[in-house]
Amino acid sequence: LDFLAESDPRVAEILNLELQRQRDHLELIASENFTSAAVLAAQGSVLTNKYAEGLPGKRYYGGCEFIDQVEQLAIDRAKELFGAASANVQPHSGAQANFAVFLTLLNPGDTIMGMDLSHGGHLTHGSPVNVSGKWFRVVQYGVSPETEQLDYESIRAIAKKEQPKLIICGYSAYPRIIDFAKFREIADEVGAYLMADIAHIAGLVATGHHPNPIPHCHVVTTTTHKTLRGPRGGLILTGDEELGKKLNKAVFPGTQGGPLEHVIAAKAVAFGEALKPEFKTYSGQVIANAQALAAGLVQRGFKIVSGGTDNHLMLVDLRSIGMTGKRADQLVSGVRITANKNTVPFDPESPFVTSGLRLGSPAMTTRGMAEAEFTEIANIIADRLLNPDDETVAEDCRRRVGALCDRFPLYDHLRIPVPA
Ligand code: PLP
Repeated sequence: LDFLAESDPRVAEILNLELQRQRDHLELIASENFTSAAVLAAQGSVLTNKYAEGLPGKRYYGGCEFIDQVEQLAIDRAKELFGAASANVQPHSGAQANFAVFLTLLNPGDTIMGMDLSHGGHLTHGSPVNVSGKWFRVVQYGVSPETEQLDYESIRAIAKKEQPKLIICGYSAYPRIIDFAKFREIADEVGAYLMADIAHIAGLVATGHHPNPIPHCHVVTTTTHKTLRGPRGGLILTGDEELGKKLNKAVFPGTQGGPLEHVIAAKAVAFGEALKPEFKTYSGQVIANAQALAAGLVQRGFKIVSGGTDNHLMLVDLRSIGMTGKRADQLVSGVRITANKNTVPFDPESPFVTSGLRLGSPAMTTRGMAEAEFTEIANIIADRLLNPDDETVAEDCRRRVGALCDRFPLYDHLRIPVPA
């Protein structure tokens, strides 16, 4: 940051403000995390200078001998981490990974079946504003109104009626275990491909804290920056080597140009970290912390969608306290807690207002917090939401957030220069 401060003080100042924000807020956005200093170093490296269209050993540019080594390392580590036969580490993001799968398996007009966005699905699984909803015929499934969990019999019935070419499982806001074997049974019954998008749960899958989709799905996509704690990016995996070759072509030249080799180096570092026993311990703690947060909120009278969580996230259903997600988001933001408003299943409010708040544990677990701290976080959130008009309570919540942040420092090696 010192180089930057000298050459571009304005950008350096903004970066420092963001570092300070990350340090003094409780980060509870379920899709965010704090990468290691090693991941940051790899991403901010000279590899950003290199063009490397193609794959290791088969490039369209010269000078790729070292780039090849780092990309091959990322591929090998990804395969080992998930038990896959083939891995493509080039997708710039989760959305790009999904788009490459669609280009491989589908033609415009084909039918895809994904989860309703308002029940926890992702935009790229068939939303009308996304290419997946514009180019394909979309049928959607949701959770059961009674259990607020996946109802495999209803999914089977929809699949039989609609005969999709591709079924998508894996979500952005679903707190329960996904039964990939059951999904494959349904896909086989209707002759559909099955894709799992494990963007959210990848770190839990890699460490055995969630069942692995690779043995059951034709293709698996993920992001690398959520529970997996790597740089922002995408990854495509499959247990089928021949399909892997087609997926490679769909990434380049199908949907992308030159890969971001500095990001791929950072992915290699993150996959290396995820292969270590400490990461398994971390992932177990992520789940224990989410469960402590959910239990703490239930204790204070809040309703959690589906009654709890098996993974890193939960949805607080605010209808029971007569509050919208938008208002709750504003209230917790005011005491330096970062979360996001989110629809709950069968939400009567619009996606801009919503009735839910999505909370996740990966980032604050990385800072070292455990169950006791997550119980305190539950109490801070409850105190704020149950006393929305009380400024004294708000001030006390800010003080308690500050105390937690001080006890668990972030990026201690990064110094913010004091202005001269
Ligand atoms: N798939 C799922 C299930 C997600 O939750 C997300 C991001 O939130 C994505 C894909 C898209 O990832 P990206 O933002 O990297 O494009």
